[in-house]
Amino acid sequence: MTADASARTSSAPTSSRAFVSLIGAGPGDPGLLTLRGAEALRQADAVLFDYLANPELLRFCPQAETIYVGKKGFSEYISQEQINALIVQKAREEGGKRVARLKGGDVFVFGRGGEEAEACAQAGIPFEVVPGVTSAIAAPAYAGIPVTHREAARSFAVLTGNTREGGAHYEKLSGVDTLVLLMGVRNLDQISADLIAAGRDPQTPAATVQWGTTPRQRVATGTLATIAQAVREAGLEAPAVTVVGEVARLRDTLRWFDTSPAFGGPLAGRTVAVTRTRDGASALSDLLRARGASVLEVPLIRFADTGDEAALHARLRDLSGVAWLLLTSNQAVTALFTHLTRLGLDARHLSSVRIAAVGPSTARSLLERGVRADFVPRAPGARHLGAELPARPGEVALHLTSQVAEDELERGLKARGLRYERAELYRTEPAALSEPARERLRQADVVTLASGSAARHLAALAGTGFPVAVMGPQTAEAARAAGFTRVTVAQEATLEALADAAAQASEAATSPAAP
Ligand code: SAH
Repeated sequence: MTADASARTSSAPTSSRAFVSLIGAGPGDPGLLTLRGAEALRQADAVLFDYLANPELLRFCPQAETIYVGKKGFSEYISQEQINALIVQKAREEGGKRVARLKGGDVFVFGRGGEEAEACAQAGIPFEVVPGVTSAIAAPAYAGIPVTHREAARSFAVLTGNTREGGAHYEKLSGVDTLVLLMGVRNLDQISADLIAAGRDPQTPAATVQWGTTPRQRVATGTLATIAQAVREAGLEAPAVTVVGEVARLRDTLRWFDTSPAFGGPLAGRTVAVTRTRDGASALSDLLRARGASVLEVPLIRFADTGDEAALHARLRDLSGVAWLLLTSNQAVTALFTHLTRLGLDARHLSSVRIAAVGPSTARSLLERGVRADFVPRAPGARHLGAELPARPGEVALHLTSQVAEDELERGLKARGLRYERAELYRTEPAALSEPARERLRQADVVTLASGSAARHLAALAGTGFPVAVMGPQTAEAARAAGFTRVTVAQEATLEALADAAAQASEAATSPAAP
């Protein structure tokens, strides 16, 4: 055992939940968050996130309180000291919370992550560091520029172009092949002049990458002598990374991201907000991303405990006489096992009943808890479950669901002579939208609605001032009734068609002919 490990195991176990994860969010492309980072977000009670951390990543932590501590775009300035204090304060709240501090790029490449770690150490709060993919390497990579290359560069240095913080010591860098400048886009004139004065060849290839790895990525190229002018002409601003070195030339042959079909896709550069009134991963988001969109997932509901736990527990404790348990969502599975645990029971309690899942996703949730569904309809949905459940007339089917369950399943089963019972297992309530979430929603080009209830929830939460793309004529009608006026209807009831409708809607929203 190493000295380190023994020190860890001998420290007294602490009962407090207080813990801070300093997480590198990656440079912008949400796919560049690490698996460890995603896991830390899933466990968080509170998340403090940056201007440069893609807000899409908050979909990993719908349960957490989210606090925007970015300094851009918001009038009130939050100082680093205030952020440090807030991290510690949140971690200590209510006997200890898990805090995720989500920072753009890597935690320790500028951005003052070291100071946040020090604040935790000083306060005695245990913490971890989850390194991220830094923009210093990823933004050039997405522009087709490798920071090293056997032929062209054997070393690279990352420097701040912020002259206040930096103070150039460019002579010291004379042996370094590739220079990567962060935060320097405004000072490029000065920086390139200083680099040339320090002996770098003015003809050295250079490239500046703005919003690297995102659908908004833009690149300007030139030489050390011309790059500042090229950046001005292209109108590039922060956040941007500038690469100076022979490797910048390789973009001509290695360009890949900003020429890919998704980058030029119909939704390139557009933001689509995907509203969700159910749990589970969003296949629609993936389709939208494949068309080039930035996706903002907006949960419109949240799950709460049943209003009458005593009644539920009485129903669950004694299942005699029940032939079938019907589970019609992942949340139902989660809540069922929560309540079994609260009752001091486990999966064996269900051995006397048969269990039906509404679709493969719910069946998978069951299997994760060691229970194989006895029945899953061929096509997912309450209608199919009601029609196909292999039960005999007179048998009792107990539907464990929320207070807003629709009647379709009940009607289908009763029509077949079954006895339908319902117990409120959990409640669905309108989600609360934080002010930053509302703000981001307002900036979306189009919002997708998959159901009438999504339309009503969205109207209640954030108003009706958005163009919306909807799943079908029924949802369109509900959306109009809720007050939405710019409604684009999918050609058919598929996610592909809904993604196409979103593209159409966002085009209409930005074309000059739009009202
Ligand atoms: N920790 C971050 C850097 C924080 S300093 C990292 O490892 O990436 C902020 C600077 O990072 C910005 O001024 C810009 O120079 C750079 N930056 C961050 N994200 C970027 C992106 N998507 N594209 C280009 N530059 C980016």
